[in-house]
Amino acid sequence: ESVIEVSDLHFAYRDGTTALRGVSFSLEPGSKVALLGSNGAGKSTLLLHLNGLFLPQQGIIRVLGREINKKTELWVRQKVGIVFQDPDDQVFSSTVWEDVAFGPLNMGFSSEEVTRRVNWALEVMGIQHLQEKPPHNLSYGQKKRVAIAGVLALDPEIVIMDEPMAFLDPRGQEDLKEILEWLHEQGKTLIVATHDVDFAAAWAETVLVMKNGVLLREGTRELLTDEK
Ligand code: ADP
Ligand code: ADP
Repeated sequence: ESVIEVSDLHFAYRDGTTALRGVSFSLEPGSKVALLGSNGAGKSTLLLHLNGLFLPQQGIIRVLGREINKKTELWVRQKVGIVFQDPDDQVFSSTVWEDVAFGPLNMGFSSEEVTRRVNWALEVMGIQHLQEKPPHNLSYGQKKRVAIAGVLALDPEIVIMDEPMAFLDPRGQEDLKEILEWLHEQGKTLIVATHDVDFAAAWAETVLVMKNGVLLREGTRELLTDEK
């Protein structure tokens, strides 16, 4: 049983730019997936479809067996968490605590459940000491942790990160690799969009390579080492 199944997905932006031209693939539960491709390949457009932020114009997406459409849009947002490349796109509340609470509150959990989830996510990310701080004053790496905590607080089965290593210092990159490993141990399906072929070759089990709106190649990480 696939955790994500994408079949013949097409998408064009309003200005007519075609971003996806018939993308199909399926992913096994618990897999570590690297999504590679140069700027403009269609990675972000694809990722936005996987959690219902964009709905297919043509083609079908199934997540945990359910087709994504208007009716399952909210459901899928809880099942699939996205950490955007730039934390300023997703960290905006007046305190770190409120920021991490935003998702669970939106999902309608009780205040006890929200508190439990937020405290847990802050602890996992090692940012409890920042909980009263305004996120806009934090360093880039700290903001990134807040953004990840906000996603973890939803306890999604599938976690997507768009260029997670970008702009992090070496220490931040090491921490992030540990977080990915920990999520993998929890049985999460992980999808990381990256330009970094070395990281993908070292980390991923499954590699998807996009180019110009199509899936150019799909395979194991050996696909990357063979190319060198
Ligand atoms: P990637 O994430 O791989 O860099 P994107 O999915 O961002 O690729 O972009 C795919 C294509 O869609 C590119 O040609 C890009 O210029 C275009 N595109 C992305 N966002 C928009 C937008 N909001 N409006 C119009 N075109 C867009
Ligand atoms: P790409 O085109 O590869 O997606 P961009 O150069 O557009 O990457 O940068 C992505 C985002 O990261 C931008 O919104 C930018 O403001 C932010 N950014 C770039 N450099 C830094 C940095 N050193 N610190 C914090 N944010 C940055």
